[in-house]
Amino acid sequence: MEKLTNRSRVVSDKKMTFLEKIYLPAIIKGMFITLKHFFRKKTTINYPEQKREFSQIYRGQHVLKRDDLGRERCTACGLCAVACPAEAITMVAAERKPGEENLYREEKYAAVYEINMLRCIYCGDCEEACPKEAIFLTDRIVASQYQRLPFVYGKELLVEPLDPDKRIDVSVRQTDEVRDFKLNKRFAHNK
Ligand code: SF4
Ligand code: SF4
Repeated sequence: MEKLTNRSRVVSDKKMTFLEKIYLPAIIKGMFITLKHFFRKKTTINYPEQKREFSQIYRGQHVLKRDDLGRERCTACGLCAVACPAEAITMVAAERKPGEENLYREEKYAAVYEINMLRCIYCGDCEEACPKEAIFLTDRIVASQYQRLPFVYGKELLVEPLDPDKRIDVSVRQTDEVRDFKLNKRFAHNK
């Protein structure tokens, strides 16, 4: 049969020489390989102390945005869930009550909003589908866990903080075209 590579070796049961029996040449060879790697450029980094620079279009952990007045933008329309190819999003809608206008921007809001980060493939379709600019993917990494359940992120992890200084900046990930589109007041949901 024709060989696909030249890496195959013929196995033989020939007797070991004295040098082979004391393993010294093999140990020296191994040490030399280790030594050689000491002087090579490292391909690894000391994460999390050091972080790699991400691509501008990297898509990581989602954020549910608030508007300038601190109200949740999401209106629980479900379009993100319908658009999601991984069926990672679930929500329960609720009606806004009188007096809650400062909490929710629309008359309907998501009382429960969950994303299963293990199902998510970070495609960004939810962000594309959202008519309220409520959901965005960010450059944040989803933290590792030992169990599956903590990967189901609820509103406590998704909605950005009220404090204006702690808001999640999503503008970095947007291309100039998308940024221009979102600043365009002709589109009702940007008002
Ligand atoms: S990024 Fe894609 S897979 Fe993840 S929740 Fe959004 S639509 Fe679903
Ligand atoms: S995040 Fe956007 S698309 Fe999803 S339910 Fe809320 S408003 Fe609708």
